[in-house]
Amino acid sequence: MKEALKHIVVAGGGVAGMEAAGALAEMGFRVTLVEKNNDPGGHLGRWHALFPDRRPADEVRHYLRKRIEHRNINVITGTTVEKIRHHGHEVAVDLSGGTEERADAVIMATGFDLFDARRKEEYGYGIYDNVITSAELEDLFNNGRIVKADGKEPARVGFIHCVGSRDEKVNNNHCSKVCCVTAVKQAIEVRKMIPSCEVFCFYMDMRMYGPYYEELYRESQEVHNVNFIRGKVSEASVNINNRLVIKVEDTLAGRPLKMELDLMVLMVGMEMSAPGAKCAAASGLPAGINRFLETADHHFGNNLSSMKGVFYAGTCTAPMNITDTISHARAAVEETVRYLNRR
Ligand SMILES: Cc1cc2nc3c(=O)[nH]c(=O)nc-3n(C[C@H](O)[C@H](O)[C@H](O)COP(=O)(O)OP(=O)(O)OC[C@H]3O[C@@H](n4cnc5c(N)ncnc54)[C@H](O)[C@@H]3O)c2cc1C
Ligand code: SF4
Repeated sequence: MKEALKHIVVAGGGVAGMEAAGALAEMGFRVTLVEKNNDPGGHLGRWHALFPDRRPADEVRHYLRKRIEHRNINVITGTTVEKIRHHGHEVAVDLSGGTEERADAVIMATGFDLFDARRKEEYGYGIYDNVITSAELEDLFNNGRIVKADGKEPARVGFIHCVGSRDEKVNNNHCSKVCCVTAVKQAIEVRKMIPSCEVFCFYMDMRMYGPYYEELYRESQEVHNVNFIRGKVSEASVNINNRLVIKVEDTLAGRPLKMELDLMVLMVGMEMSAPGAKCAAASGLPAGINRFLETADHHFGNNLSSMKGVFYAGTCTAPMNITDTISHARAAVEETVRYLNRR
């Protein structure tokens, strides 16, 4: 008699979930990929050109979508994984709508949420029309035009780093890792689309840790004349000409600065996703100090949870870029297969 294929539920259909599902299916496992939204893709679905090489995000999306078009994969969309629990030798997965999936193992790939910029009132997001987030700037890139609320091109754009990251006041001490390089990538893109536009980045520290990030930073200054000011923006307001006015403490020059801007882009950080956190709490899976999922061991068990048969992939554990998310998802698959072979 033919043995039934082992079954793995993957919770979340972003980069991590799609890569993990595709790899498992290729190895002969049966996979159910459960995605909350009506379409898999996660945050990648919103990005335009990716750092570090400005590759069209569509190319990566296409690769991952192809990966989940496999006869061993059943994709369930518009459905949330609510709770994971043990049921005898199996893992039971409760889905929204009251249904249940039984599996041999589960991979949590529930990703991140963008920080809600309204929580930093001093920047005026949601109050002033020309204060937008980095994600909204990606929407403008995808529409092919960078415009202010009045439909005209901006003459001066400012990028504000660390919005909702490295900030005790909003209970986020972590660095979101991807926003410095995203600001550099976006600043270059603005300069290319509107060559006459002046661009400023206001940063605390430039964290360009990845391959080719430092080169991109250098290119932004030497080729595209992006200006970098080390300083914290303390507040934004609007003057009678309807231009944004920001106050900055320039910490290199040691003096306060006032500047007018047409468009202010808030580099919003990454937080643990709310539906991921809800599922983890219901399942008894602990979170770390920054509310991302706590892995069993930071060095040797970075895909392991505290529950037998449950593994972690991607940004549900910490902020990371796409390259690291894919590597993390592949490592989660390896741990899952090792576990299934030992059972
Ligand atoms: C502004 C910005 C720009 C970026 N640009 C780049 C770039 O240019 N290059 C790069 O390398 N990286 C970039 N990144 C990082 C990149 O977006 C992440 O590395 C990647 O999206 C992480 O994928 P993920 O699958 O872990 O999470 P996500 O993309 O968040 O996917 C998680 C999925 O899980 C679903 N989900 C959540 N909870 C549940 C649940 N309980 N049940 C079912 N489904 C659930 C969500 O709906 C989502 O579809 C950027 C990040 C930001 C913030
Ligand atoms: S990557 Fe840069 S902008 Fe993002 S939190 Fe870290 S230091 Fe701040």
